[in-house]
Amino acid sequence: MEEFKIGLCPYCGMGCRFYIKTLNGQPIGIEPYPGGVNEGKLCPKGVAAVDFLRHKDRLKKPLKRTENGFVEISWEQAIKEIAEKLLEIREKYGPDTLGFFSSARCSNEENYLLQKIARLLGTNNVDHCARLCHASTVVGLAQTVGAAAQSGSYTDIPKAKVLLIWGYNPSETHPVLMRYILRARDNGAKIIVVDPRKTRTVWFADMHLQLKPGTDIVLANAMMHVIIEERLYDREFIMNRTKGFEKLIAAVQKYTPEYAEEITGVPAKLIREAAITFATAGRGIVMWAMGLTQHVTGAANVKALADLALICGYVGREGTGLFPMRGQNNVQGACDMAALPNVFPGYQKVTDDEKRKHVAEIWGVEDLPSKPGLTIPEMIDAAAKGELKALYIMGENPVMSDPNTKHVIEALKNLELLVVQDIFLTETAELAHYVLPAAAYAEKEGSFTASERRVQWNFKAIEPPGEAKPDWEILTMLGKALGLPKFDYSDVEDITREITLVAPQYRGITPERLKREVMGVQWPCPSEDHPGTPRLHVERFATPDGKANIIPVEFKPPAEEPDEEYPFILTTFRIVGQYHTLTMSNRSESLKKRWSSPYAQISPEDAKKLGIQDGEMIRIVTRRGSYTCRAVVTEDVSEGVIAVPWHWGANILTNDVLDPEAKIPELKVAACRVEKIGGC
Ligand code: SF4
Repeated sequence: MEEFKIGLCPYCGMGCRFYIKTLNGQPIGIEPYPGGVNEGKLCPKGVAAVDFLRHKDRLKKPLKRTENGFVEISWEQAIKEIAEKLLEIREKYGPDTLGFFSSARCSNEENYLLQKIARLLGTNNVDHCARLCHASTVVGLAQTVGAAAQSGSYTDIPKAKVLLIWGYNPSETHPVLMRYILRARDNGAKIIVVDPRKTRTVWFADMHLQLKPGTDIVLANAMMHVIIEERLYDREFIMNRTKGFEKLIAAVQKYTPEYAEEITGVPAKLIREAAITFATAGRGIVMWAMGLTQHVTGAANVKALADLALICGYVGREGTGLFPMRGQNNVQGACDMAALPNVFPGYQKVTDDEKRKHVAEIWGVEDLPSKPGLTIPEMIDAAAKGELKALYIMGENPVMSDPNTKHVIEALKNLELLVVQDIFLTETAELAHYVLPAAAYAEKEGSFTASERRVQWNFKAIEPPGEAKPDWEILTMLGKALGLPKFDYSDVEDITREITLVAPQYRGITPERLKREVMGVQWPCPSEDHPGTPRLHVERFATPDGKANIIPVEFKPPAEEPDEEYPFILTTFRIVGQYHTLTMSNRSESLKKRWSSPYAQISPEDAKKLGIQDGEMIRIVTRRGSYTCRAVVTEDVSEGVIAVPWHWGANILTNDVLDPEAKIPELKVAACRVEKIGGC
């Protein structure tokens, strides 16, 4: 029998809805759903979203590593042994030798449960891959406007008169969002793109500020210098709704456009023009992604952009806002659910005695750990040093996604217990002691939160293959086996209801409501009869005194700069037809065929100097490793810059140095050299 089930795209953070078409219970295709934020449209990944579901590589049974490789075991044995080992390690070395990686690909309920397990075991060592993408946003926005989330809705975009798109390439990373951006352009908005590469988004821009990677603060400060010098700022907004403007005036004084040109490579005239265009538009939106955040100054970069929007009064009104765009489908939700080492669900600090007691009471314990835990890179380092003994990874693939691959592999091999719960045997799962087969998005229920804080229900369309189970079910079994209190969930909705008690922003977001209102609800939603909140900061900011903090920041160069041995700047990017570490997208024949192999962009000047022809094989070398791929000679990158899509394992090259505030690695800048191999 042919059926159509409402689905939710498992790829990016846009939150597109579609129909999953099934025949006799098997997925056979994706069909447009007439509505949702995507208005019936999908990008190539969304169209291919059923391809990997019945792939032959799907994990179907729990696996245990033995001397002879993996053997299949029963669920009972797997859960019993993992629980015993976790408790043994906790007993022997203490709770902070346990670590947990949660997942931006799993539902809110699943993220909620994993962090609950970590905390009930006595540690805050829980984190997820937002650490590698938007940790800077979480820190930067929390300090400036008090809420680590997109301030407006997609529907604000066509109402803006200027869009400042910074380190972000929506044409490839969130293609469906381009509909909103192009509508803004049709309505007369100017589009300013800041990016070291001429991306596909630049095709639609009025101005392209092609800065040298890692010089974002200089450019943002120079734009603010012009806005202040020309008195184009919003005096009333600054006076009534912000603090710290005086300090900003002093801090940006030296950042003249001419000074900025020397450092960024962007002509001073263009910086002036962009600043004036931005400040005089009347309604503006600043959008950013990993090109801005993955730096050793990532949090400072975000603060600089927040400052820029604040001094122009571009927050809290129609057609304005701060728009960090989330890479994976549930990065926002995983952060909201506290798959983070310093907060409980709803961003309640673990150090806040009152909040901690409140959460502990709901979870049926006296108290919870109050010391902030380790971040992902810190857990990897701790494992390498032998200080972290056990790591439980749900739906993440750090061997491919984290910087400095060799170091990650060494660290994981050093663990006494590595458990990986996933849908495929990823590069990380191959190193595990136990591998648990998880259900994919279409095989389970639960809620997911898209970039614009929109919480949507994910309906089940098909059964999981073999013995694979939804992550929430596996974690419920584990919680019970560990003897943790209040793990008697009979279905996923029980967990959603518990979230409404713990996370204040989700109070009115019940499972019944999400199933009824399939377009979802935007948090904060304080009660069941509240309509949700399309726009934050309308009357007051989410800071203690209701005012936004303008926080001046100073430029610090990237951790690695070109030198004689490594004369180029390496940067990384994403492409439309592949996703993250390829786990799902490369198991789609249609995507794999079109977006098949790794390459590196090199400028015609550099290619000529090195005698490299378009299409020839090259080797890129950094202090951490080497990587072989095809050269694409293109004017899309400037002289001195090498740009590589990171999906095919390019993190062997990237730098694991951290932003001291956000603990995000500097994935976007490294010094490298290029060697010609030849051949095609
Ligand atoms: S834009 Fe994102 S959510 Fe929408 S179809 Fe594409 S990958 Fe899926």
